[in-house]
Amino acid sequence: MTPDPATTPSPEMSEALRQLRFCAFCPNPCRSGLPLDGTARAESTMPSAMAFLCLAVTDGRVVLSEEVRDQLARTDTIELAQRECPYGFDIAAALRAAVAELPQ
Ligand code: SF4
Repeated sequence: MTPDPATTPSPEMSEALRQLRFCAFCPNPCRSGLPLDGTARAESTMPSAMAFLCLAVTDGRVVLSEEVRDQLARTDTIELAQRECPYGFDIAAALRAAVAELPQ
């Protein structure tokens, strides 16, 4: 059976989803990349939490409300933490790529 190009993700999207699926169940060893400046960072903004939320939306388990869209745009903590990602993932980019594919 030939894959349907309309529903087959691009290689870039496949890679983004692969990284997000891994990250969603990772215990955040990249937390060490966050500066010790006293800034409070919500657990919900950590890479694995954001990856999990993004996948829940792309899988249709969470409705893409305005609040959820705003949450998915908050990549500042991810940008800091992923500098210490031992897997070399760019979760912020993967998340942006996945969100760009969501209905507007
Ligand atoms: S960014 Fe890397 S280290 Fe951090 S939670 Fe995701 S996969 Fe794990």
